[in-house]
Amino acid sequence: KREEAAEVLAQGEMTALARQHLVQPWPVAGEIGAEARGGIRSGEGIYVIDGEGRKLIDGPAGMWCVNAGHRRKELADVLYEQAMELSYNSPWYTMNEPSVTLSARLAGHAPGDLSHVFYTTGGSSAVETALRFMQFANNVRGRPEKKLIVSRQGGYHGSTYLSASLNGRPRDHDWMDSASDQVIKLTCPNPFRRPAGMDEAQFCDMLVEEFRDVIANRGAERIGAFIAEPVMASGGVIVPPYGYLSRMRALCSENDILFIADEVVTAFGRLGSVFASQEVFGIEPDMITFAKGVTSGYFPLGGVMISAQLLEDLRRSNHSEAMFAHGLTYSSHPIGCAVALKNLDILEGGLLAHARDVSDYFQSSLKRLEELPLVGEVRGLGLMACIECVADRVSNNPLTLDLEVGKRIDAHCQELGLLVRPLINMCVMSPPLTIERPQIDTMTDILHTSIRRTMDELVREGLWKG
Ligand code: PLP
Repeated sequence: KREEAAEVLAQGEMTALARQHLVQPWPVAGEIGAEARGGIRSGEGIYVIDGEGRKLIDGPAGMWCVNAGHRRKELADVLYEQAMELSYNSPWYTMNEPSVTLSARLAGHAPGDLSHVFYTTGGSSAVETALRFMQFANNVRGRPEKKLIVSRQGGYHGSTYLSASLNGRPRDHDWMDSASDQVIKLTCPNPFRRPAGMDEAQFCDMLVEEFRDVIANRGAERIGAFIAEPVMASGGVIVPPYGYLSRMRALCSENDILFIADEVVTAFGRLGSVFASQEVFGIEPDMITFAKGVTSGYFPLGGVMISAQLLEDLRRSNHSEAMFAHGLTYSSHPIGCAVALKNLDILEGGLLAHARDVSDYFQSSLKRLEELPLVGEVRGLGLMACIECVADRVSNNPLTLDLEVGKRIDAHCQELGLLVRPLINMCVMSPPLTIERPQIDTMTDILHTSIRRTMDELVREGLWKG
């Protein structure tokens, strides 16, 4: 009993301190610096224990990152051992073994000639690095006007200034400044929201034509890069139409536009392979950005895979004195790279195969939720999925009432033992890759009950006709 009392008090203290001293990511002005979120105390496998001691399935694997699951001793051990061996060295003028070894192993998994890695501290800094590299390369190659970046509505690429300028989700830019003059946004490749009367192949043609038109109108000589998540993650797990990515890749090649695959979510097993670009979608990007799952979230690390050809072009340019004035104190961090090496051992040692093995079961289990009238679509690939709720299935409209739907479902799920990531009218699922079939069943059952409870609630409150 005393232990219980101490825990409740600690939770209360945590809330009070957070309200006094912590600014959380993505707050609204009315609560900024005064907000307390649910505390998470510990984790094990696919579960986390919250501040009240409840055991919850970690539906989003943290933030799409705890791919190997919580409390992996071998990852914790390597963190400790590397810290005791060498906790840090300056990447400005020295290098360490874990980062060099990791680069070689990542190059072995990467498509095409992506032979080199530039390490960062996470996904935003990886995207920022890729973009600044494109700008630098075009300056050195004597075409400083070739800098525009093409991204897509619905995409998410980070929270630093330039990476955030690429974001195209609703509300991302309402109150924020951005480098909008440097960015062109194409239509979101979401087949569920394609224009009425169009089949998926026609929709794909439309998207490719739109890019072709942009290139014709703005001029290939002004466009430096196209950036795309192979499967859009926080935009609602959007799997593009068949052939879309390879046709966009071809347009980039024809127009000397760098294709940057933002694999911050899709790499390291989420789609069953270390990198998804080639193995899943058959494309060879010029750069791949990665983060999150590279260390399964045990240490902040990200990076950019860069093509050998691009580096060779720079070495052969007429400007050998030009400096890529870009680097982070924690680039090539020895602890991050050591953890990533161990994480790669885990992936190669069976976790990739397991993820591939359970992903069809995961998708078809969740697909059952489409029998509920509030659910417009369940979609996904590998071990990432999205349940999108709609006002009615005729219009498929995400009406204003839907703003609360994700949160309501999340609240019911938490009571029943599942953490979900509510995104307006959507719930996004991306559990640790270690998840087993019975746990997938439990997850779907909890979602089913929670969505049913939400529907009843909405009807009772007169917000939805049913
Ligand atoms: N790119 C993608 C596709 C992401 O999903 C995210 C984060 O969710 C980022 C970049 C930014 O990564 P980070 O939050 O590690 O800076």
